[in-house]
Amino acid sequence: MHEKSLSDFAKNKLRALENKNLRRKPQSTVRLASGMINRGNKNLISFACNDYLGLTQHKKVKAAAIQAIEKYGTGSGASRMITGSNPLYSELERALANYHNTEAALIFSSGYLTNLGIIQALIGANDLVVFDEFSHASLIDGVKISRANFLRYAHNDIKNCAEIFSKKRAKSENAMLISEHVFSMEGTRAPISGLAEIAKAHQAWFLIDDAHGFAILEKPQKTADLWVGTLSKTLASIGGYVCAKREIIDYLQTAVRPGIYSTALPPSALATALTALEIIKSDAELTKLPLKNAKKFCAALNLPEPESPIVPLIIGDIEKTFLMSAELQEEGFFVSAIRPPTVKTARLRFTFSASHNSEQIEKLSTAVKILQKKYELNNE
Ligand SMILES: *Cc1c(COP(=O)(O)O)cnc(C)c1O
Repeated sequence: MHEKSLSDFAKNKLRALENKNLRRKPQSTVRLASGMINRGNKNLISFACNDYLGLTQHKKVKAAAIQAIEKYGTGSGASRMITGSNPLYSELERALANYHNTEAALIFSSGYLTNLGIIQALIGANDLVVFDEFSHASLIDGVKISRANFLRYAHNDIKNCAEIFSKKRAKSENAMLISEHVFSMEGTRAPISGLAEIAKAHQAWFLIDDAHGFAILEKPQKTADLWVGTLSKTLASIGGYVCAKREIIDYLQTAVRPGIYSTALPPSALATALTALEIIKSDAELTKLPLKNAKKFCAALNLPEPESPIVPLIIGDIEKTFLMSAELQEEGFFVSAIRPPTVKTARLRFTFSASHNSEQIEKLSTAVKILQKKYELNNE
């Protein structure tokens, strides 16, 4: 029907989402120091943030950002291809490459744009991409716009992954295997060395997205061709990056569209990440705290020992999930309710950070236990 107005189109879409409880609406929220947020005039302890080490509020990190603004101004003016790269780019790229034990690194404006851009630049219509079914949307979108043939394997299932390659690899020119190190909605970790063997056996390029594992879990062995990460989580800033051999990075610099056609990051974002990385390298104890805190919570609730600081509590029913999240909020805890299509089964998702203390975690586990009884959930 051509006479339908754009407003009617939008209203119909919203109504359909509301009927399914799927409309999304972010609320005005202020993040405070020590893992707290303020929402609706109420202070809440946040178990929802990716600022794993609390470095967005660190004195030295903030000072570095302010200093970079004083020195270089706020924005960067244009794409790196047009106005060139601020010297902080090469400094941070060198530091990230060193951290991942690779020859070189390249920074983009977000983790999302990194995946979107690099997959599209490396893979095309005659190629095959095989990836974990729970892969992040940025990886899936990158694969889709590459126009490659793609297949998903069951979550962390090495056997299923190998079967797909055995059946499909011969028909395609190049191939890529993609996995995350830590899966952002499951909290599980990938069997990286097993996947690397499959990639090698089938001559596939291996990409690992380490957005959630970086700096807070032990480093996986150097087994991937491409390490993707973000500056926006543990590194307390905004931006994304890929690490690889020098010639691969040199090619990507000239080929990745979001790198060419989007404005460079503000220098303050680079200074932030650089300083955060220095703190990470100098304070090994700090980096262990998020996982330690997740373990305390799981022990208190008799949940299996977590593999990462991300702990999902599967609920299933979307409405119940929201009610539980709302009740936790009443009790002073901010915990996100994650629902389809982001995940297959609705859940509460807890992320633990170095900012949480034992008392906060104890209070949270007590509140969750009460809700589990009320909503008749068991831990299985
Ligand atoms: C968060 C995340 C991204 C996106 O990074 P941004 O910098 O937030 O755009 C990409 N991949 C994974 C696995 C992530 O968890």
